[in-house]
Amino acid sequence: MAAAPPVTAPEILTHSIFDQISAMDHEQVVFCHDKTSGLRCIIAIHNTILGPALGGTRFWNYLNDDEALNDALRLSRGMTYKAAITGLYLGGGKAVIIGNSRKDKSESLFRRYGKFVNGLNGRYITAEDVGTSKEDMEWIARETSYVTGLPEYMGGGGDPSPFTALGVYMGMKAAAKEVYGSDSLSGRKVMVQGVGHVGAHLVKHLEDEGATIFITDIYEDRIADISREHNVIVVNPEALYDQDFDIYAPCALGATLNEDTIDRLRCSIIAGAANNQLADEKLHGQMLVEKGILYAPDFVINAGGLINVAMELQSYNRGRVTAETEKIYQRTLEIFARAKRNNIPTYKAANEIVEERLRNIAMLNSR
Ligand code: NAD
Repeated sequence: MAAAPPVTAPEILTHSIFDQISAMDHEQVVFCHDKTSGLRCIIAIHNTILGPALGGTRFWNYLNDDEALNDALRLSRGMTYKAAITGLYLGGGKAVIIGNSRKDKSESLFRRYGKFVNGLNGRYITAEDVGTSKEDMEWIARETSYVTGLPEYMGGGGDPSPFTALGVYMGMKAAAKEVYGSDSLSGRKVMVQGVGHVGAHLVKHLEDEGATIFITDIYEDRIADISREHNVIVVNPEALYDQDFDIYAPCALGATLNEDTIDRLRCSIIAGAANNQLADEKLHGQMLVEKGILYAPDFVINAGGLINVAMELQSYNRGRVTAETEKIYQRTLEIFARAKRNNIPTYKAANEIVEERLRNIAMLNSR
């Protein structure tokens, strides 16, 4: 499979819907609508070569339908890469529900959505994402068995973010080993951008290891909670790109690595949880190489949460999820070694491994 070209939002707006879908090589995109509950949703199935497409449901107040479609397309492609690099037998998909998650949620909306998911007969399996919770998954589960991220009492694995944080921590240690020759984070200055579900758990790992922790968030209550429980230094969200750190951990939004920020960043490692950190893979992946900053590819190191929900499809075992998530350390080192050997950016080394696996299994399936 050829590497998918990066598609940016402004470029996408000038293309037809089919151009957008084919630009990243998606298999299927489903638009769902229900007048009574107000449901407006897009389910994007990127690739099912390795198995059913698994990916969360994002509930977000998009500015317009194009923005929602673009997000669904980019995120679902990311899930294909995340599942493939992690060695899972799963494809990539993602759904977006258009609306305000603080005002527009209802039982009927999620159950109607569950019926649409069920209609796909297992080609797409959902889970929680930004704006949705395990309580919402319970409603969806009334209508379909193609849902993960369920609470423990329903046989699920509960909140996936502790495992996402563990994987990010593993990837960060691997990056430290590569850059400093030791994977110890003791005394390293680590900037955690966004102390929500994942960031908070990451802070705990870093504290246990004796790192000097800097945090930033746009919500005062998040900062206050974390500062009360941990020994952290608070930084203004805008100021972070101009300060000296060893490691920058983006755990808030995507696309924080762009022309403006890379120019200003003064760190030696980037390792965080946010999806799609590079605003433009090719351009900004190369810029980081030129600046001598080692980038631990996001979809490699933030896969702990996916491992957790994927385990629900078998029989859920927390110990196994932990062991599988810890493998991210070795996998990240292998990607760094391949990048060095072939003199390519780390994101590209990771993409190549994914595309080889997809090509090989597609060939196997066609025989
Ligand atoms: P979250 O919403 O719980 O936390 C994100 C935090 O970032 C919030 O506290 C928010 O206030 C803060 N934030 C938003 N914009 C900011 C800004 N400009 N500067 C500083 N802080 C800002 O989300 P989460 O579940 O912790 O996920 C964090 C990131 O990791 C997201 O991008 C998510 O897509 C990605 N991710 C999460 C998981 C998971 O298991 N939760 C898995 C894979 C990837």
